[in-house]
Amino acid sequence: MSPCAKMRGMNPWLVTLPAVVTTAAAGLAAYGAAYPRAQLFGRTICRTNSPRKLAITFDDGPNPAITPKLLDLLDRYNAKATFFLIGRYVRECPELVQETVARGHLVGNHTETHPNLFRRTRREIRIELRLCHDAISNALGAPPKWFRPPFGMRNPWVIPAARELGYRTVMWTLLPGDWQEKPAAWLIPRMQPIADHAQRSGGNGATASASGRGDVLCLHDGAHRELNGDRSRTLAALEHWLPRWHDLGLEFVTIGEAVSTPAP
Ligand SMILES: [Zn+2]
Repeated sequence: MSPCAKMRGMNPWLVTLPAVVTTAAAGLAAYGAAYPRAQLFGRTICRTNSPRKLAITFDDGPNPAITPKLLDLLDRYNAKATFFLIGRYVRECPELVQETVARGHLVGNHTETHPNLFRRTRREIRIELRLCHDAISNALGAPPKWFRPPFGMRNPWVIPAARELGYRTVMWTLLPGDWQEKPAAWLIPRMQPIADHAQRSGGNGATASASGRGDVLCLHDGAHRELNGDRSRTLAALEHWLPRWHDLGLEFVTIGEAVSTPAP
């Protein structure tokens, strides 16, 4: 068996550590790789700069079966959102990507084929990011500026590879699990923390909550295994929550607006 074959299934950068620290490092790495707000492997954006601002984000599109309906729903509440796109889907539906941006939303890079980057080499990571980068750039005539790793998984090379292409990496505060095949009645209560945070921060015109930060919500308009995945439950849950969040005084912003414009 070749040394490479033996290493299969292990992350190669862990293999280079001395054996005595490998176990502890593996525990720390698991945290840095998967915990959404961990900064171990590089800085990420996890929150908005105001409790009044909610950044709704969608992964794994574009999806011709859902994204157009979602764009109509968002328009109804003057909601702007951020879509992290899979490169191979962008190549199949560039018009939908153009439509998304024309309606005031941001798009970001979510890799070409949606692998778990924790188990990929530096070279493989760079190729995954570059192919999606080119697909979006070709569709829009300009490169995106925001990146989200598939499954939120990182290793020491992911964020530097994203930075090389000019990206800031975006994670989340709330991941309700809308990819699960469960009814909207299951999903809706899992999005309750957004309303709880808005209420705690005091409603319209009140001062900021203790943290002074707002939520980044991670939902899915696509499915990484196939184009045209069923995300009707995500749509139904948003139909439920958007008017309620609006009444609580939340503003629905893109991730760019969430971090770069002054907090109200
Ligand atoms: Zn994804």
